[in-house]
Formats: sequence, structure tokens, C-alpha cells
Amino acid sequence: MNVISSFSGGGLGERGVFRGTIGFANPALAGFAWPLFEARGEAEGPRLCVSAGVHVNEVSSIEAAIRLQSLFDPRRMRGTVSIIPLINQPALYRYTEYACPIDGKNINFTFPGRAAGTFSEALCDAIQHDWCAGAACYVDLHGGDLRERVAKFVLFQRTGDAGHLLNARGLAMCFDADLVVGLAESELAKPGRPPTGFAREGRLAVMSEAGANGIIDEESVAFHVEGVLRIARQLGIIEQAPSLYRRQRTVCDDYLWVTAPADGQFYAEVEPAERVRRGQRLGVMRNFFGETVGEIVAPETGIVLWRMTHPTLKQGAPALAIAIEETPRREA
Ligand SMILES: [Zn+2]
Repeated sequence: MNVISSFSGGGLGERGVFRGTIGFANPALAGFAWPLFEARGEAEGPRLCVSAGVHVNEVSSIEAAIRLQSLFDPRRMRGTVSIIPLINQPALYRYTEYACPIDGKNINFTFPGRAAGTFSEALCDAIQHDWCAGAACYVDLHGGDLRERVAKFVLFQRTGDAGHLLNARGLAMCFDADLVVGLAESELAKPGRPPTGFAREGRLAVMSEAGANGIIDEESVAFHVEGVLRIARQLGIIEQAPSLYRRQRTVCDDYLWVTAPADGQFYAEVEPAERVRRGQRLGVMRNFFGETVGEIVAPETGIVLWRMTHPTLKQGAPALAIAIEETPRREA
């Protein structure tokens, strides 16, 4: 990580506040600069890294990454909070959904990355092993691309390591979420989201999701901001954070994508955060003459995580997702 420009006068890594742009050493990432805010307290303490804009239209989370910067005062904190408000720089001003325009990959499913790989793979490697080196936790903020509405939820990675699981779950519970989803251990077998990529190395990352349709909404911004502040408090970086929880924080075991059974217009009959039963009709697909051409049915009993809001969907395209509530564990 090298400083390209400093707007704050101070150097990166010094006590106080740094605002500027940075680049990464990997030649695959040459020519790009990332905005970086870093607040470092007078007292030593852990490092917390926060990012948004892996998906550039998820604007409530990007807004949260901007507002968070004014909430960390180096005189009233221990350790370091480092924030990159927009990760997917190649997509900036292109409003690209999901993918990185350089290699077409979804950065969100590319962790832990690969130094010798494509742009997205090199970027994930730089985030995880350079910017987040030594970080106690990485929080990646998401939610509400141009054609979707998401419940307020948070993702952590389940692993066989009881200590890691407890810590990951505890950090995820810092968000006042409708749903707290623990990704299945099977995710660890392939490149994945930040919680997965970090867990593969025994490290901690969580992802928060809130927002809709590329529009900033204050409730979603507050959800992201307050969750990060509670994590900073949990890590011992700050003393105070909002303490009130209003949502259920239902812990879930799994995350199922439900696809459109036919080409057509999607008419949803459920909304994010609603409970659904296995076999319940969740929506219908109609053709351009208004005739029903397929029904979307719940594959399991669960809670709707997100749904597409733009009606036009191709057969096989994700229409919505359902989280499955955690099975109560029996006492031994
Ligand atoms: Zn996203």
C-alpha cells in the first residue's frame, strides 16, 4: 500500500487522521487509486478496516462509509479505524451492477483472491493481505443495487473452530439486523465473500446488507453506521456506541437463491424480512400479454433476505433469496 496523495497533511500510519488516496503494489492494480480515511488514536489498540462500494450502486452503504469518518476522533479512541468508501474503482461512474468491468468478476465472490490472478483477484488479495494485514476485523458494507431490495442483514462465516465461530457470530450480532446469517462451512471450499475468504485464514470479517434500488435511505445508512460503531466498541477501539436493538436478529443457517422458472415479468408476493413457509407461492412470472407463465414457490420455510425489484427476469436468474432459521441445538 503506497500513498498517492494526502489531503490531510499527515502521513499514513501516524497518530491522528489521514485522508488521501492509496495504490497497491501489485502491478495488476497499477493506474488505480483508492480513497482512504484512517484515524489512529493516541493509545495503541486493534485495527478495524471498513469498506463499501464493492458494488458501486449500493449507495446507502457507501454513504455510511463516508459518514463514519466524522465519528472517529483520534483523541477519543485506541488503535486504528481504516475506511475505503469505494472499492470497485473501475466501476466508478459506470454504475456497473455486481461485476468489476475489467475482468467481469464479482469482487464479492473472489476472496481471499490471488496475487497472480486477474484484476479482481489481485484486488481481493491486496485488500485481505495488504490493507487488512493485522486487522482484528474487516467489515464490508453492502445492499440495494439498482434492481434489488434487501432486508437488513449481516453475514458471518461458520467454521469448525468453536472460538472463531463465537467471535464471528459475536461481531455479526453488533448489527441491528432482521437476520444474522451464518454461511455454511461448505462455502469455505471455494473463493467467496469476505467472511469466507478471511475465515479460510482463521481471520474475522463480516458483511452487512441494507438498502434498495440505488437510493440512499436514512434507515439503511444508520443500520450500517451503528453496526460498525458497535463493532469498534466490542473491539475496544471506542467506549460508546448505540445500545438499542429494535430488530429480531434471527440467526440463520443457510442462504438459498430462488430463480425465475421462466422468462417474463416478476410479480413478487412477499417482501424482504417476511417469513415464508415451504411450498408457499412467493410470486408469479407473466409474459408481455399478462398471462402467467410460472410460479415461484418457497423451497424451504424461512425468511426472505432480498428480492429483485425490476420485474423483467430471464429464466434461471435469481428472483429472491431465503434464509433458513438456525435449528435449535439440543443440549448434550
Ligand atoms: Zn453488494
